[in-house]
Amino acid sequence: MTAELVAMPTHPDDLFRVERFYPFEEGGRRLVFVVDSAAFAELDPPAWALAEQLAGQGRVRRSKLTEKLTEAFGAEEATDTWAAFEQLQILVPTDRPSTRRHTASLPQDPVSSLVLHVSHDCNMRCGYCYADYGRYGSDAGYMDPELAVEHTKKFFDQLGDTRSVSITFFGGEPLMNLDVVYAAHAYAKKRAAQEGRRVGFGLTTNGTLLTRELVEFFEAERFSITVSIDGPPDVNDRLRPIQDGAKSYDVIMTKIAESGLKANARVTLTRKCLDVARIVRHLIAAGFREVGVSPVATGQERFDLAGPDLVRLLDEMRTLADDFVETAKRGEVMPFSNLRTVLEQIAIGDPRPVPCGAGTKLVAADNKGDLYACHRLVGQEQFRMGHVDEGIDPRLRQKILDGMNPGSRAPCEQCWARYLCGGGCHHIAWLHTSQGAAPWTIGDDFCDFLRGWYRLGLQTYARLVDEAPGIVPRLRGTSVGTGCNQTQGQ
Ligand code: SF4
Ligand code: SF4
Repeated sequence: MTAELVAMPTHPDDLFRVERFYPFEEGGRRLVFVVDSAAFAELDPPAWALAEQLAGQGRVRRSKLTEKLTEAFGAEEATDTWAAFEQLQILVPTDRPSTRRHTASLPQDPVSSLVLHVSHDCNMRCGYCYADYGRYGSDAGYMDPELAVEHTKKFFDQLGDTRSVSITFFGGEPLMNLDVVYAAHAYAKKRAAQEGRRVGFGLTTNGTLLTRELVEFFEAERFSITVSIDGPPDVNDRLRPIQDGAKSYDVIMTKIAESGLKANARVTLTRKCLDVARIVRHLIAAGFREVGVSPVATGQERFDLAGPDLVRLLDEMRTLADDFVETAKRGEVMPFSNLRTVLEQIAIGDPRPVPCGAGTKLVAADNKGDLYACHRLVGQEQFRMGHVDEGIDPRLRQKILDGMNPGSRAPCEQCWARYLCGGGCHHIAWLHTSQGAAPWTIGDDFCDFLRGWYRLGLQTYARLVDEAPGIVPRLRGTSVGTGCNQTQGQ
């Protein structure tokens, strides 16, 4: 059992209930994850032996099992191991309530992230664009500055006691509609100051329209800028041409260099190129502050990852996890946001009922005044949860939250990774269930990938505890983003 665990006085009763836990071997380590508490530990031989004895059991007798452990490992080890399993809440005296969680209903708390779709138009023609070149299934269109301010006003009106909020400008290409960015930013800044709230701004751009003047504004106003770029020229230029057919890699990198922007990179992965380690290493070396990758979700076989692609993706992630540990040994945190996010989740040890903020913490607003549960689901009536005139409609929102609730999906309820994964990206799940009615479920291949990804995260965390312990406290509070979980979706 891990050295950090301190033995607690054991319960006097002999009969214990076995709560849901998942022992596994990954990269030569034996680990256990406790499903409902999200607790996690590395197992020594006596603990692994006890885990094996508990497999498939509902209730057990301490006297019987500690006797077996004592025979194999001695009385002291047996007592300590049992106490550690109690501390992890794998073993709970039968007179105490179960630790099993039920997510009967997702709460309708204030949303703290607003994504403004300021432009449903784009000057690029990426082959896989889920948003129909930024149009989200309708005509190209731009948000009016007055509407952007109204969306922002309604967002602030519903905040209640929420102190820390974020506003992200999204598209299409948001730099094609700068008046809206300036108007919403000015309103939000003033209102946040009046109400004593902290507001962070973000903007996702293709990078081709950046200027020095703009970057000075973003820096002065502490915007977090994310540039969409898919890797080195041979990868990026394959599917990300500019509208006139020109290659975009050199344009983007020149604009970044000339404007002095410090940006995060956002990579969209398709099955056409899965050299993920090469891509991430390239973009980190190119100077991006943080690099994140996400599988494309278009509903089209020629782009979306499936079966063997996801196996390959996990292998590439293993290589990057090795990089992460090697970087940590030099006292640095590798700026690979997918892994950082998972490690932060593990470090905090907070079980989460949902995969991301969609519908619970995040609302996306479009140029017609409509509100949606997620920026990727804009234009999909099933995910519309109100209109700027009335604000978020609790009835529409509840219907969406009920559909999103992994507690209502059999595969998730049975899954050991339930409270790490939270049920997977709703956008992908919706595509995988043919865009039909809820419950939306992610396919088996994708679930296998996600479970493998979380196993890798747990193993990497255990490695860091051993090999670079100084980094571990720094993993808390490092993740970036607006509540979208990038490894699960776009
Ligand atoms: S891995 Fe799949 S089954 Fe498990 S919680 Fe995530 S979406 Fe649900
Ligand atoms: S993870 Fe998926 S559903 Fe959640 S915010 Fe991101 S794209 Fe939307």
